Amino acid sequence: MVSVPVQCPYCHSTEVIKAGKQANGTQRYQCQNEQCARRIFLLHYHDRGRVPEVRRQVVDMALNGSGIRDTARVLRISPTTVIAVLKKTPHASTRQPHVAPSASTRRHRPRPATARRRD
Ligand SMILES: [Zn+2]
Repeated sequence: MVSVPVQCPYCHSTEVIKAGKQANGTQRYQCQNEQCARRIFLLHYHDRGRVPEVRRQVVDMALNGSGIRDTARVLRISPTTVIAVLKKTPHASTRQPHVAPSASTRRHRPRPATARRRD
C-alpha cells in the first residue's frame, strides 16, 4: 500500500490532519501550520470558484486590467464569484486604504468651472 502525503494547497505544508467531512461526504483536511492563511481545505473541489489556483488567477487577471465578466468567462466561474474573490483578497485592491477625512479636507472646496466642462 502506498500512502501519498496530503499537502496544504496554501502553504504546501504536509502537516495536515483529517478534519471531518463535508455535507456531501467529501473528506476535509486541516493544515497544522500556525502561519497558514487558510486552515481547512479539500483535495478535490467540486466548485471551480473554490480552487486556490483559479482564485489566484482571478486576482492576476484583475491586476492585468481584465474586467469581472471577462475574468468570469475565461476562468469558467460566475461573475459573482469573481467579485467575492476580489473582495476577500486584500492585495487585489489597487485603491489606497480608506482614511477618515480630516477636518480641512471634509469641507467643500469649489472647483474651477472649467474642470467640469466636457468638450
Ligand atoms: Zn497551510
